[in-house]
Amino acid sequence: MNDGDHNAARHDASLGGFKQIALQVVRHQDEIPGGILDLIFMFLEVGDPSIHPDAALGRTPPQNLDGGRSAVHSGNAPAALRQPKRVSSGPAGEIERAACLQFLRRLHHQRRRREFKILRSALAGTIPPLPPVKVHIPDYVPAAHRQFAIVSVMRILLCGLAACLAAAQASEVASRTLANGMKVLVEEDHNIPNVAMYFFYKVGARNERPGITGVSHFFEHMMFNGAKKYGPKQFDIQMEKNGGNNNAYTSEDVTVYTDWFPKTALNLMFDMEADRIRDLSFDPKMVESERGVVYSERRTSVDNNNFGILFEQLRAAAYTAHPYHWPVVGWPSDIESWTMEDLKNHFRMGYAPNNCVMVVVGDVSSEEVFSLASRWLEPIPRHDPPPPVRTKEPEQIGERRVVVKKPAQLPIEMIAYHVPESKNPDDAALSVLETLLAHGQSSRLYNRIVDKEQLALNVNVFRQESLDPGLLIFLVQPRSGIDPGRPEKALFEELERLRTTQVPEQELRKAKNQLLADHYRELKTIADRANLLGTYEVFYGDYALLFSLGKRVEAVTAADVQRAARQYLGEKNRTVALLVPEQEK
Ligand SMILES: [Zn+2]
Repeated sequence: MNDGDHNAARHDASLGGFKQIALQVVRHQDEIPGGILDLIFMFLEVGDPSIHPDAALGRTPPQNLDGGRSAVHSGNAPAALRQPKRVSSGPAGEIERAACLQFLRRLHHQRRRREFKILRSALAGTIPPLPPVKVHIPDYVPAAHRQFAIVSVMRILLCGLAACLAAAQASEVASRTLANGMKVLVEEDHNIPNVAMYFFYKVGARNERPGITGVSHFFEHMMFNGAKKYGPKQFDIQMEKNGGNNNAYTSEDVTVYTDWFPKTALNLMFDMEADRIRDLSFDPKMVESERGVVYSERRTSVDNNNFGILFEQLRAAAYTAHPYHWPVVGWPSDIESWTMEDLKNHFRMGYAPNNCVMVVVGDVSSEEVFSLASRWLEPIPRHDPPPPVRTKEPEQIGERRVVVKKPAQLPIEMIAYHVPESKNPDDAALSVLETLLAHGQSSRLYNRIVDKEQLALNVNVFRQESLDPGLLIFLVQPRSGIDPGRPEKALFEELERLRTTQVPEQELRKAKNQLLADHYRELKTIADRANLLGTYEVFYGDYALLFSLGKRVEAVTAADVQRAARQYLGEKNRTVALLVPEQEK
């Protein structure tokens, strides 16, 4: 037991039994299989949505690793302010105990003796003893039965969770559109006295053109360099003085500003945000210095980064016509030559209030937020947003291959397939498909390529939200001495298997469970919820769809997955980028 555990346990004495159970579970976590631990945690969290596993673990919550502001993709939004939450007492405690008891019974009936014993000892003293179960419990439970039991308990839990979240949260979001067209979403959460305030500007690399690529990301930097009322660096200084923190990210589709602060700073935040949207400074000296900063960011994150450069080349090859062809950070020659006029034009259209969705989650009342929004933001006049993107990427008619030669220890391979935009009905089937292929160690690709055949150190899959048709990308890192062709061949065989044979029901269930558990975990903090609400409003056209994701995932059938695999994972639709290590000169 480390100091953290001691402190957490001491602190815990005043918080009632529920958190102690979580702590006990954590202490025994080496004895509990990973899956069941997760399950228990999830269950505990449903019992009391205000408990945070990090608080239960008594460890420092993970912080945002990206200290500076960088061009990240919307899928990797900045990590949340993960503050331990208060644990409720009173009637909620009773409900928690009842829920734990029910869970314990289920474990008992499923003959999962080890988990049962551990949880029972953790619960000792907080619940009445269980009556003995009179059935004979064999020591050996056939694997198939055991798996079925786990699968079915997860199904029950997840379905319950989905229904509960959908009912509890969709209606708790208040929404209003200001007279200037800015959309405001508010979710009240009074568990901690903090607020997350996110601004989604619907402007990104797709609204650029050759000659001005990278300009959206440039404004992600410029927005911190001073406006009329709050001068250079004042945004950060005032924020920190008031105990807040901020970040921002730019993708192909959006530029997002993220503020987290104590509720006492709410009025100040509105004042500062309104100031920089309305009256951003274009001081030529500042523009030149920030141009240098962005250029050096490009050198670090793309030119001298093997993953960065390979990703850039992959996208440039996969898209020949659509603006997703160019990188978010911009081509070097464009960064060097944006003019003041380019910058002003881009800012005017991108930062039109009618091109923005603002999301506030935290210790606020929606009426308070709407009234501050009408005071500070509504007077900012609307203007023309970015023109629609007309160019559609033509259908790919044959595999494309790109080779990048760079000094490196090992080769890297990225394999991309064109897939539809987030709003497309196939979105859920694709999420299930990518999960069963490459999420976690029991996934098909990991299991075969990394575990069994030991051809690669890792295999991953990525797909980010997109307004226009995007990419499903596999990342393979072949082992030393292994020809990249071998893991590639194994990967293609697995995709072919998915195209020709339907996924067994149990595997489909597992993928859905994983996907849903990840999704519900994502809803935990105010910052993550602010990010998700904005993401759903912008990419799916309605924030409320966030709360019905469970339903959409549940509806995916094995036939849907096979159809999606057939439609999108074909050879002609594929772009392969390979980084070949080169000796350093
Ligand atoms: Zn940056």
